Amino acid sequence: QAKSSGRGRFSFFSSEMNRLAQERLALENALRKALQGGELRLHYQPQVDLASGQLYGVEALARWTHPQLGEISPARFIPLAEECGLIADLGRWAVGEACRQLAAWRTQGLAVPAVSVNLSPSSFHNLDLPRMIADTLDRHALAPKDLTLELTESILLDTNPSTMKTIEEVHAHGVRLSMDDFGTGYSSLSYLRRLPVSELKLDRSFVADLENDEAARALSSAILGIGQSLRLTVVAEGVETPVQNIMLREQGYPVAQGFLFARPLAPQDLERWLVARMAPAQASADQPVHGEESA
Ligand code: C2E
Ligand code: MG
Ligand code: MG
Ligand code: MG
Repeated sequence: QAKSSGRGRFSFFSSEMNRLAQERLALENALRKALQGGELRLHYQPQVDLASGQLYGVEALARWTHPQLGEISPARFIPLAEECGLIADLGRWAVGEACRQLAAWRTQGLAVPAVSVNLSPSSFHNLDLPRMIADTLDRHALAPKDLTLELTESILLDTNPSTMKTIEEVHAHGVRLSMDDFGTGYSSLSYLRRLPVSELKLDRSFVADLENDEAARALSSAILGIGQSLRLTVVAEGVETPVQNIMLREQGYPVAQGFLFARPLAPQDLERWLVARMAPAQASADQPVHGEESA
């Protein structure tokens, strides 16, 4: 009896595991097709210079609309791409597409100062990455400083011998590196001396707690201090409320991004956002306003 129920349970689990494995395999194949067939897109979230109100840059964030399942979150498909060996292709695609878009905006006369692209640690295993990036920048007539690569602290746990070499080469070429989600990893601060980063991004969990948690305020201020003393630009992520914005400005944060300013936007929506936000200031400086405000 025990034997048969055991067998029954086993076959239940194995069929459930089988189902999950098949679902995953199907999603992997769909992702592979999406990457080849142009189903992946980048949205762009503005980063705002808090002192001037000007655009500091935009962060490119990958989006995938599955033909049947609809919108799939990067929190789901990025790990999937890592597990099934597609992350290098995805990284290459993201760098190429972000550079193409930045060059297109410049051609249109839109002043977008720089674009940031998120790269997974395993993208840096590839010793060809620096060459690929240099070629991509050349192809679009962009300067190295037009591109920022966002890394996470987990890159420090990466034991692949190529990682540091690739990072150093990309940096030597003049591409900026940014430490994403700063303060949430478990590496030690000493890596700030080892990694040639130009920028830190205060993780949004600190920003979310600013209003109610004295410790979060103390930490965001301390992180800004660390960044400034190392001459890094510190960007606050996930700013959602005017109060958070005011607190960050008072602490001296130079740059912020978050839903308060704009969600990650499709290229056309970012263009509209930029024109609506930047044009009125220019118009009022140059000539009398005949806009919606006076109507
Ligand atoms: P991340 O790089 O830290 O990006 C910030 C995430 O916070 C984005 O989520 C963005 O939509 C979200 N966000 C921005 N402002 C706010 C806000 O005010 N409030 C809240 N609650 N959230 C905000 P998203 O686009 O879902 O991306 C999640 C993560 O997936 C990213 O975190 C990044 O680690 C990864 N990712 C996205 N695109 C790529 C990519 O092209 N390559 C790689 N390797 N990773 C990517
Ligand atoms: Mg990021
Ligand atoms: Mg982040
Ligand atoms: Mg994140």
